[in-house]
Amino acid sequence: MTAAHCVLVINTGSSSIKYQLLEPDSAEVRAAGMVSRIGEPVGADTVTVEHRGARGTLEHRGPVPDHGTGLRLAFELFARDGTDLAHAGLRAVGHRVVHGGEVFYRPTVITDAVVETIEQLSALAPLHNPANAVGIRYARSLLPDTPQVAVFDTAFFHGLPDAAKTYAIDASVAAAHGIRRYGFHGTSHEYVSGRVAEALGRDPATLRQIVLHLGNGASASAIRGGRAVDTSMGLTPLEGLVMGTRSGDIDPGIIAYLARTAGMDVDASYDMLNRNSGLEGLSGVNDFRALQAAVESGDAAARLAYDVYVHRLRRYLGAYLVELGGVDTITFTAGVGENSPAVRADALHGLEFLGIAVDSVRNTAKSSAARIISPDNSPVTVLVVPTNEELAIARAAALLVG
Ligand code: AMP
Repeated sequence: MTAAHCVLVINTGSSSIKYQLLEPDSAEVRAAGMVSRIGEPVGADTVTVEHRGARGTLEHRGPVPDHGTGLRLAFELFARDGTDLAHAGLRAVGHRVVHGGEVFYRPTVITDAVVETIEQLSALAPLHNPANAVGIRYARSLLPDTPQVAVFDTAFFHGLPDAAKTYAIDASVAAAHGIRRYGFHGTSHEYVSGRVAEALGRDPATLRQIVLHLGNGASASAIRGGRAVDTSMGLTPLEGLVMGTRSGDIDPGIIAYLARTAGMDVDASYDMLNRNSGLEGLSGVNDFRALQAAVESGDAAARLAYDVYVHRLRRYLGAYLVELGGVDTITFTAGVGENSPAVRADALHGLEFLGIAVDSVRNTAKSSAARIISPDNSPVTVLVVPTNEELAIARAAALLVG
């Protein structure tokens, strides 16, 4: 099997690397895998690299000390699977990069200077950009002859209107430090809103859309005529909706209050807001399936967490309905959005007066396809559309390198 027309997509996280080898035109996935628990002291029997390809599932067990080793091990599993990536004639490698700052707002061919700038943007995304840059450096050293492209999570929101992207803080401080609302999950919001237009056979220019990307991280966007006009994440991916472990919106006064009354410094607060808040902070579980099971078993903390989650979601829906002056489509995507009929029904409950309704049979039907879940002839079309950031990155990379 030739990989010559394929793009290798790499998504490097702080302790993991996800990858896919796929054909951008047909969307065929040739191989996919994940390196996990990088840098953790795991036993020799622990599966740390799992690769699914032409020859089924291949594994590597044992510690992975760093990202470079992780990528090398993944490449070895590709070779065991029959693909020598270095000589496969790949079209490109596409890297997901979380923060492009004000500098990068479209897919960009990676040069030494581009990697350095991505590293310099680490202050804006300390949990993500350093890992992204490490992944890029190793991929370039392992595949020096393959063009490499960075696709930025912030890019789709670069053109937010000034009123939506500006924080009402001291303007000189904001200007000196590049503080604005950047938005994240942009690749997903752009891809999903494009698929909605395709699925409905409509020109994106004619649609007012709300997209709800509900996964471990979660964000909402308002899109008019194919362009994002608002989004719930901000300078960092902490703002907005309630997430698995992140708080979303809070009163920033809480941070000063905790410093004064609890002796929690900024790092401790930031850590709490990122890692021990959201569903996890309220109920002790961050996985949505576990949360729903706890709600069903009568756990009061889980119930409250669920209610806070849905309340926040509805607050953003209301805001975006007004911003857009009405809406044509509302679309759910990502792990929770694609798989939880309860969240979809509860988020849109009682909105018939706005022309928004969910058909309970359609909503609960098992499917992994893009689908409409509102009743026929509903003024607002409600959809579930699986996101596919890897495919979007592969297509962007292939388009850029020609
Ligand atoms: P993502 O970040 O898009 O991979 O989404 C991960 C989240 O989706 C986790 O909180 C999962 O528990 C949640 N999820 C996955 N499958 C389901 C399901 N069948 N029902 C509810 N939540 C789900």
